Amino acid sequence: MTVATSLFRFEDSYARAVPGLSVPWTADSAPAPELLVLNEELAVELGVDLAALREPSGVALLVGQVPEGVTTVAQAYAGHQFGMYSPRLGDGRALLLGEVIDTQGRRRDLHLKGSGRTRFARSADGKAVVGPMLREYLIGEAMHGLGIPTTRALAVVATGERVLRERALPGAVLTRVAASHLRVGTFQYAAASGDRDLLRALADYAIARHYPEAADGQNRYLDLYRRVVGAQASLVARWMLVGFVHGVMNTDNTTISGETIDYGPCAFIDAFDPAAVFSSIDDHGRYAYGNQPEVLQWNLARLAETLLPLFDDNSEVAVEVATEVLSGFADAYKRHWAEGMAAKLGLAAQDRELVEDILKLMRLQKVDFTQFFRALSAGTARTLFTEPEPFDAWSARREVLLPADRVAVAAAMDRVNPVYIPRNHRVEEALAKATDGEMGPFHRLVDVVSCPFGERPGLEDYTGPAPMGCAPYITYCGT
Ligand code: AMP
Ligand code: MG
Repeated sequence: MTVATSLFRFEDSYARAVPGLSVPWTADSAPAPELLVLNEELAVELGVDLAALREPSGVALLVGQVPEGVTTVAQAYAGHQFGMYSPRLGDGRALLLGEVIDTQGRRRDLHLKGSGRTRFARSADGKAVVGPMLREYLIGEAMHGLGIPTTRALAVVATGERVLRERALPGAVLTRVAASHLRVGTFQYAAASGDRDLLRALADYAIARHYPEAADGQNRYLDLYRRVVGAQASLVARWMLVGFVHGVMNTDNTTISGETIDYGPCAFIDAFDPAAVFSSIDDHGRYAYGNQPEVLQWNLARLAETLLPLFDDNSEVAVEVATEVLSGFADAYKRHWAEGMAAKLGLAAQDRELVEDILKLMRLQKVDFTQFFRALSAGTARTLFTEPEPFDAWSARREVLLPADRVAVAAAMDRVNPVYIPRNHRVEEALAKATDGEMGPFHRLVDVVSCPFGERPGLEDYTGPAPMGCAPYITYCGT
């Protein structure tokens, strides 16, 4: 069904295709909504009237006050959180506003976060606060700027409410735009329901929405699985190549679409370090930078378990075919990583040893991961090493492998190696100021990280890690 409002034409294909996987639910009212940030580029992509969205009726929609006829729903999902299975997570503080078809014909979810308690809220308050919602906005834009598949935020609206966290903080609602909110956890919930028809309907819906090419395959569900595995192998390689640490790679935060979702305690590494962890709740480093590919594979194994009954009636055969597909993940990941690293280093051909050796040197000498590749193309990388001799030896080995046209090599490297990433101290500074009501640093930082590849004068302060002597960076769960 389509419901045309003055701003959007909302569709509800998800709620209709898998009625068992959501419940109609309404948002809390916000006492004094104030639009903090609107993503104009994304709004244009969605084909919505910018001026109208800024008006009180538009802002009201962005906190979930929907016109007659629009039904907002809370989605159900399960999930493994830090390895522990929770049969009932779901949108505890979020609502699906509806689906819209964007100007390029793509179906996209509009989803609110921080809109109040739902049936899935458990003991939590259903709220969100300004800092973490702006973090999600910011990091999503940075990822988009880097060319990495991601959900994006359309807006953050302050609600005018105080929300109790470690102290009373300004409340906010984020509007998130996603290819869909289908997650591994959605399949876990459907599978656990024991309703085979529901599971099949969900898988059919996922195929229609994300992988229509799988519809005609010999075994469409196995084909769906293969495509999710492929999309996620590519995604996690992209994260690794820019030093992104997601922080909460629970199965409910792993999408079927292959988009990055849920920016909570995430961060980018400074010095290259596979053990890098930023999240205050990740005591054992389960979601450390270097563990991410393996964790993703683990999450995809959980997805396979849900789909087994659809793969084959014979459970042994089902396990066998699923295992075969999943075993392709590691190779696919390694291929994406190797190709990506070759491009980052300016090499025409892959060279595993050369890559491993420079990473080892960078780790030992604590060289900044992002700065290194730009310095390499500029010919100044040597200065980043406290002991430059091993780098010199490595550089000589690389030299002989480079294509002849060095100017072209450097230009190609600069197209894949960002100058600007959301540096942790810059993110904290921008969010702290915004929480106190000053949005300037946030807007500036969004502007910087949205175009990460072209060096711009005057932005030198955004290109490096925090000055020495700053405390290690810790992110608290994105509440
Ligand atoms: P996340 O860690 O953001 O992926 O969230 C995990 C689960 O906790 C989801 O089911 C969320 O809806 C729920 N959740 C997180 N924060 C809150 C909150 N403040 N109120 C209600 N539910 C929450
Ligand atoms: Mg989540």
